[in-house]
Amino acid sequence: METKAIRGFNDVLPDEIGKWQFVEKTAREVFEGFGFSEIRIPILEKTELFTRGIGEATDIVEKEMYTFTDRSGNSLTLRPEATASMARAYLEHQMYAFDPVAKLYCMGPMFRYERPQKGRYRQFNQIDAEVFGVGNPMVDAEVIIMLIHFLEGVGMGNLELQLNSLGCRECRPRYREELKKFFAGKSAQLCEDCQRRLQTNPLRIFDCKVETCKEAIADAPRVIDFICPECQKHFDQVKEYLAMAGLTYVLNPRMVRGLDYYTRTAFEVVSYSLGAQNAVTGGGRYDNLFQEIGGLDIPGIGFAIGVERLISLLPKEKEFIQVPHLFVAALGEEGYREAYKLVNQLHLQGIRAELDYEGKSLKSQMRRADKLKVRYTLILGENELRQGRVVLRNMEDKSQEEVPIDGLSLLLRSKLLGH
Ligand code: AMP
Repeated sequence: METKAIRGFNDVLPDEIGKWQFVEKTAREVFEGFGFSEIRIPILEKTELFTRGIGEATDIVEKEMYTFTDRSGNSLTLRPEATASMARAYLEHQMYAFDPVAKLYCMGPMFRYERPQKGRYRQFNQIDAEVFGVGNPMVDAEVIIMLIHFLEGVGMGNLELQLNSLGCRECRPRYREELKKFFAGKSAQLCEDCQRRLQTNPLRIFDCKVETCKEAIADAPRVIDFICPECQKHFDQVKEYLAMAGLTYVLNPRMVRGLDYYTRTAFEVVSYSLGAQNAVTGGGRYDNLFQEIGGLDIPGIGFAIGVERLISLLPKEKEFIQVPHLFVAALGEEGYREAYKLVNQLHLQGIRAELDYEGKSLKSQMRRADKLKVRYTLILGENELRQGRVVLRNMEDKSQEEVPIDGLSLLLRSKLLGH
């Protein structure tokens, strides 16, 4: 058997986990400050939830879902995104009966059968935030403000907020017809998939990565030129609220997002930190999703942040690796017994103390302490212990002092934890 994870599925190793925990902690703090509550949803759902919610003729549903039949013959799918599941939970638990406005966030793995490459995996993690039950443009702006606040909070620089409006049920069909007409004229240039999309869902041609299709897209009509007065007003107000918060943005009329449920406001945040353009997050309003999956007319807006991509862009100077605070070296049987007792007490006080489990020589214990990059080592020798004392060695300047065991944990807490 080959000891290797499945292609596109990654381990997050302990030396990386500090970044993940930092990102997750910041998200919780920022989102909860904006009045959002965490929700945890299942990883598996009925396939129908995604085919109806995301749209049959999207890349995700057509090509990227991990779908299988379970032992009872039900078609199930590993969630490719979280919004549809969150909306399902809101409907199923009638959360609107208590308060029509729900501000929810969740984090966890998503699954898409895409071609793995740097920044693109088959299991990847998202942090999602959604507001259900409000159609007011104020909320569109609020969600975007929260997102930018979070991204700045984790230290992201060189951010560009891109905005577009995708219209609504009223104006989108007119645009669709225009697109159909336009692409029909370019049909020879379109790949096989796009030929099909032309009939089923011409908007999805914008997602295509084939060169000749990209060329055809270049002068396609723009959705923003077709939106109805109501959508235009909504979009103007979103921009006004963003400006009030001092946020700058650029309009990107080519951004249509890859899922069918988006209406009106669509946005992406791109980072230029690494020179190359990187979409770390995207989102938008989806006032038709609820009708697709449950029949109720409930507006919604939200975003999903790609955690792997965000982490790859975090500033390098931030130190995330957790090192132990202290190494406890022991000599002789009595030394080991005391070291064991002490380490257990220290753990209960939040001091990350390590000791040797194998009865190694002092020299080899000190080598390990060096390798672990601890700031202090405590040496428990039998002679010193008999006098109720231990040696505390500062690993940086190599100085040593003898300290009494009495009051030791108080001393260590102040040296190591600063209290
Ligand atoms: P989407 O749900 O497609 O709007 O994606 C939202 C964000 O999730 C993107 O901006 C990416 O950062 C991230 N993302 C989407 N697909 C993948 C993937 N296959 N691997 C890694 N990150 C992804």
